[in-house]
Amino acid sequence: MIIFGLVNNGSICYLNSVLQMLLSSESFVELVLKNESQSKSITTFNNFFKTASTNPYLNIEDLDDMKIVNPKGFIQEFIINSKHFNLNNQEDVGEFLIHTLDIIHEEIKRPIECSSEKIGYFKEYSYIVPCFYSYFKTVILCVNCSKISEKYEIVSQLLVEISRDNITLAEALSNIFKKELLEDYKCDKCDKINTSFKKIYPIIFSKNLIIVIMRFGNSRKKKIIIPSDNLDILGYNYNLKSSIFHYGLMEYGHYISVNKRNNRWFYCNDTIVKEVNKINLSNSYLLLFERSITIPEVTTISSLSDKSHSSSDSSSRES
Ligand SMILES: [Zn+2]
Repeated sequence: MIIFGLVNNGSICYLNSVLQMLLSSESFVELVLKNESQSKSITTFNNFFKTASTNPYLNIEDLDDMKIVNPKGFIQEFIINSKHFNLNNQEDVGEFLIHTLDIIHEEIKRPIECSSEKIGYFKEYSYIVPCFYSYFKTVILCVNCSKISEKYEIVSQLLVEISRDNITLAEALSNIFKKELLEDYKCDKCDKINTSFKKIYPIIFSKNLIIVIMRFGNSRKKKIIIPSDNLDILGYNYNLKSSIFHYGLMEYGHYISVNKRNNRWFYCNDTIVKEVNKINLSNSYLLLFERSITIPEVTTISSLSDKSHSSSDSSSRES
């Protein structure tokens, strides 16, 4: 089992929390271990995972049966050599996670042929895509002239609003896909600002779902009920693998995480790692859920009806 604390020699609790989150995603670990020399960043992750779990050269100290790892080699290779990050600033965990996945994706992407509706999804394809990127269609109907506009979009994180206290995560997620009334949509056919209807249809859900709980203003103190297992989202079943919490002010706060490894939960606060029996998720900020079926199973919702699931196991990862 891979579980260890991470040294924080500055303000890198965001980085340590994201590394713990990614280590909790079985598909991400598999992706890294099986694609060793595919790209510079995968090699960097690979080196980090291997040394952290097996070799003592990264300042690993035994602490009972836990280990403490200094991620300085990873930081040197991934952060300092990449111009995308600034180590002097505390980054937002969500942005850092998405940015990290995007960097890997950019290095290994290639085009894949596919059916027309999913062309945008497969146009630039990599292992990261089925693992972390979902694909949604937004349909807007102009009430005045009945024009329907469609837009396809790759979605790397689901932004969830806490619309009321004690809302369940499943309900908050389903709100994303509810028909919404737009008061001030400018239709490009009738060229008027009208009332319109907007609805988002999921075409593909990725194997891992990254969920950001939006905590601003009034919703900061509201509670959300988050299941650790069996999150049902439009008929798909996901299990929680990791949750990151934020404490304190936005710029000077501190991130910690809870992570599931081998069906056991671990509280991770930089070098401090403790096994916990119960986890309280109601203050979660960033969540990673993973579906248990293997990639590259891609399930589509082909028609406009929410429940008309059809499975198309694409051959996308071969070729
Ligand atoms: Zn119109």
